[in-house]
Amino acid sequence: MGLDPASLKIALGIVASTLCLLFFGSFRRTRSAYSGWWCLALVFLLSGNMAYLLAGTPQQIWAGPLGNALLVAGAFSVWAGSRSLRLLPTPRWQLLAGPGATAVAASLENPATNAWSGGLVYLAMMSLGMGLATVELWRLKPSVSQAHRSLALAAGVLASFFLCRGIAYVLEGPDGPDFGTYLSSATTSVVTIVLLVTVSFSMTALSNEQLINGLNERATRDGLTGLLNRTAFMELATQEINRLHSAGSISTLILADLDHFKALNDSHGHAAGDTAIQAFAAACQASVRHTDLVGRYGGEEFTILLPGADLESAEIIANEISRRLAAAEPPDGVTFPTVSYGIAPSTLANAEVDHMIVAADKALYQAKSLGRNRAVWATS
Ligand code: GH3
Ligand code: MG
Ligand code: MG
Repeated sequence: MGLDPASLKIALGIVASTLCLLFFGSFRRTRSAYSGWWCLALVFLLSGNMAYLLAGTPQQIWAGPLGNALLVAGAFSVWAGSRSLRLLPTPRWQLLAGPGATAVAASLENPATNAWSGGLVYLAMMSLGMGLATVELWRLKPSVSQAHRSLALAAGVLASFFLCRGIAYVLEGPDGPDFGTYLSSATTSVVTIVLLVTVSFSMTALSNEQLINGLNERATRDGLTGLLNRTAFMELATQEINRLHSAGSISTLILADLDHFKALNDSHGHAAGDTAIQAFAAACQASVRHTDLVGRYGGEEFTILLPGADLESAEIIANEISRRLAAAEPPDGVTFPTVSYGIAPSTLANAEVDHMIVAADKALYQAKSLGRNRAVWATS
């Protein structure tokens, strides 16, 4: 049974335009760069295939080179979309070089009569564009998405398919036995339809995963500082303390409270107070390791969990935070407040985060009554 290339191109066009409409809806909703690029890739695929329908007519002279260039532009759009998932921009000239070279090559070999004018450059560019996309997708961190492996696989299959076609084209020419049968344009249409559906399905999974990651991030982070919110801190700290406790290791909790913060708010306004809170959060993040947990407990109070640290090292870190805050640049006329700290080790509180906070709060109260701007260790 022979596959009719023109009917297959029409079927491919219908699949691509349906997917394009669906993805355009998703792009309008999410404004995510990769769904925009994917939409654009589908538009190129669609218009490239429409240009090919003019093969064998007098229009072939311009439709052939244009079709080749549009399809290569589609492959490079997939590459740009894959890069956008890794938040990498793609320079415009890199995007235009492939389609440009393809169009020039196709115009040079009698495109009016030769349906395969510039065929080798076209096949090589398709393979290159999809190959680059495969590499980008493969490099994506699993934390961004699990769907990227099937995307990389689909792009890799298409890149290899075009590579095989390129090799057959060189070895036997466009009328050869392999190039004319299982590596033909008809087969390409079938392979492309299957891969389009695979990729679109994975893209949808990816877009949902990114949505969920975003919501999760918003649910666990404090909006003003980007630190963990109270609920997330308590949850993560409980897990971490339990883990360390069962491994026979300790952890230490710091409760920090900005000094005379109300006075800063009253004399310079709420916005100045917010700046001080943000500067304190930045000082904390610059002073701790990435395995430590920093949370905004509420208002101008913060919690820091230092896994493996004892009282002395916790006090050194508290002093480092205060030093950094004092060195930070405040808005005109404002002086950033000093900070008081209460420090409680897990050994004192049965390795329970609530008890550690109560103990640290008592120590913090002492730090305030001793004149503020200091750290006090919790005792029994
Ligand atoms: P102390 O040295 O004893 O801690 O005195 P204080 O003034 O820092 O403590 P107090 O608890 O009296 O005041 C805390 C103030 O923090 C009151 C509240 O309006 C303010 N506050 C809480 N959350 C925010 C916030 O997100 N932004 C700003 N600007 N102020 C906040
Ligand atoms: Mg307070
Ligand atoms: Mg305070």
